[in-house]
Amino acid sequence: MPFIYWDPTYVLVVLAALISLAVSASMNATFRKYQSVRSLSGLTGEQAALRILQAAGIYDVSIRRVSGNLTDHYDPRSKTVNLSDAVYGRSSLAAVGVAAHECGHAIQDARGYVPLKVRGAIVPVANFGSQMFWPLFIMGLIFSMESLVNIGILLFLFALIFQVVTLPVEFNASARAIRMLESTGILGTSEVPGAKKVLGAAAMTYVAAVVGSLLQLLRLLILSGRIRNDD
Ligand SMILES: [Zn+2]
Repeated sequence: MPFIYWDPTYVLVVLAALISLAVSASMNATFRKYQSVRSLSGLTGEQAALRILQAAGIYDVSIRRVSGNLTDHYDPRSKTVNLSDAVYGRSSLAAVGVAAHECGHAIQDARGYVPLKVRGAIVPVANFGSQMFWPLFIMGLIFSMESLVNIGILLFLFALIFQVVTLPVEFNASARAIRMLESTGILGTSEVPGAKKVLGAAAMTYVAAVVGSLLQLLRLLILSGRIRNDD
């Protein structure tokens, strides 16, 4: 088992980490830029979210303030749009864009958007897969048990499928957000491109996650190929 000590496929892990770093640095830069651009309407993230939910005819979703940075999310179980400090009370293009995006998820939920349902349904198995794939895979390599290696890869695929299903959910939430920001007049025509840039940068982190996982999958396949060749 010398490959465990000297493993050239580790290059793939480093590559995935570099892509992730570059994308999040670019996202942070875009956020910082549009956090300093105040929206003409002066509406805060919370006020924008309220207006969007009302315009969409959604009255059973409440808006909450949560601590942390980039912790904004929609929770379908509690039916809450959760906005972070930098979004809730601020009236920047970044704040309004993120608030609208989370409302986009609330609208998906209200309209029964299928990819959101699929994603919700596979959360438990995806979490289990991402926690368990590596220990099983490594044990399979150490003990030369091909079936264990295959189970590890299968579990990893569950986590990957979750990330892939996340893509349409995120892109669609942003598309709904932009439509609502335009139709409700929360943002003017000159401001919409800024909000689009913020949401586009955020979406890239989900794309980078999928790319990172594909590199990881390639690594697993290369490592598992060795055990098969040993037989
Ligand atoms: Zn989202």
